[in-house]
Amino acid sequence: MKLSNAQQALLRMLPGVDHILEIAKTDHYLKNITKSVLVQSIRSVVENLRESIISDHTEITKNDLSEQLILEKVKNKVETALTPNLLHTINATGVVLHTNLGRSLLASSAIGNLAIIAGKYSNLEFNLSTGKRGSRYDIVENVLCEISTAEAAMVVNNNAGAVLLCLDTISKGKSVLVSRGELVEIGGSFRIPDVMQKSGCILKEVGTTNRTHIKDYENAIDDGTGLILKVHTSNYRIVGFTAEVSLKDLVALGKKYHIPVMEDLGSGSFIDFSKYGLSKEPTVMESVATGVDMITFSGDKLLGGPQAGIIVGKKNIIDSIKKNPLTRALRIDKLTLAALESTLRLYRDEETAIKAIPTLRLLTMPFDCIAEKAQKLHKMLKNIDDPRLNLRLINRSSRVGGGAFPLLDLPSKCIGTQVQGISANRIELYLRENIPPIIGRIEENLFIMDLRTILDDELKMIVTAFDNLLKKA
Ligand SMILES: *Cc1c(COP(=O)(O)O)cnc(C)c1O
Repeated sequence: MKLSNAQQALLRMLPGVDHILEIAKTDHYLKNITKSVLVQSIRSVVENLRESIISDHTEITKNDLSEQLILEKVKNKVETALTPNLLHTINATGVVLHTNLGRSLLASSAIGNLAIIAGKYSNLEFNLSTGKRGSRYDIVENVLCEISTAEAAMVVNNNAGAVLLCLDTISKGKSVLVSRGELVEIGGSFRIPDVMQKSGCILKEVGTTNRTHIKDYENAIDDGTGLILKVHTSNYRIVGFTAEVSLKDLVALGKKYHIPVMEDLGSGSFIDFSKYGLSKEPTVMESVATGVDMITFSGDKLLGGPQAGIIVGKKNIIDSIKKNPLTRALRIDKLTLAALESTLRLYRDEETAIKAIPTLRLLTMPFDCIAEKAQKLHKMLKNIDDPRLNLRLINRSSRVGGGAFPLLDLPSKCIGTQVQGISANRIELYLRENIPPIIGRIEENLFIMDLRTILDDELKMIVTAFDNLLKKA
């Protein structure tokens, strides 16, 4: 690549890293910054300038290379470097189980227990009655069996891991029957056919996309069949001319041919949400009651706990899963166990669970409560008293998210905002880059915040962000 004379002159003028490091020592703010952070920031600024100069469409001039402007750029870089990458983020999307925003919020008892276990030694793998080595899996097995009514239980890192582990243990090298209507892809890269392949099982599709009958399963059974798998189609629904085989009928079929049956529930729930105005989703207890051999589900979807993969089922099956060496690779961490145990204990009393587990509270929050919160934020924003800020209270629907209840609209109250002279896109960007970031959505020219998922102590932070936005604009 041939550089113009002007470009070559600019390159010669570009100061070196050492030179900027020297002048940074005289700067009030930069002189106190840790050297590694400072050097890294200077390098990155110099490198960016060099790239801009040699790019074809360079708009860099002599003035951009002044020491003062370079130091300004370095300060911005340093600030970014000193901000953690993982940040508290305000969820104004109304999607309760937002996978990109961290899914479930933990109950305060779970947070408390997690903090204790994080900072102290614990009996994680130590049996206090025998004084000998114990198993971390015992920590939540009792309570899981108690609330799910299953014979045995075990937990791993996440539900994707749980499914993989079950397939690997029970049906490696054998064929697994799955209805064509249930070959789902869950966000990210979890696709049933791919997991099947990774686990060394052979996927045998049965039935059709919209209709699968018991005889489709029965006709597919042969000597090589190792498992019948039912997958809860969490994140979509097939509607219209449809038929699926119930878990109960699959369990009966499995018994007849001595083939184990498994259900991937996805977002397992211990609560019948239809009692709270949501639609009916299968509960873990209902699945257990069918006599199915094993059920897997997530800890951080409708359960409202930490990320985990829970397996409940028959004792002999769970025992063989526990012995699988793969278990070690998918091992659940002690912080997760601490939070999970506390969360599960809340389910001993449903009323307590609904009140104490944020995911359940947000999902069942009455419309009036959300409307009240919206009124409050509306008033606080109005108090900024800037005629350019235009606010509107509007009715919209929240979503459950996390692949659960895909068709359900939860009536909610939102605030739509407009700022004279600033586009909705720029508001969205500004709030996204705020600390804490505020994530909402744009509808036509409105920036919209759904109050269902905004926590009480976040209202003030939103007002501060808008205040700063208007001051800067
Ligand atoms: C979400 C989901 C998974 C993956 O669970 P993770 O806990 O996110 O690993 C697997 N299967 C189904 C049906 C799901 O809905």
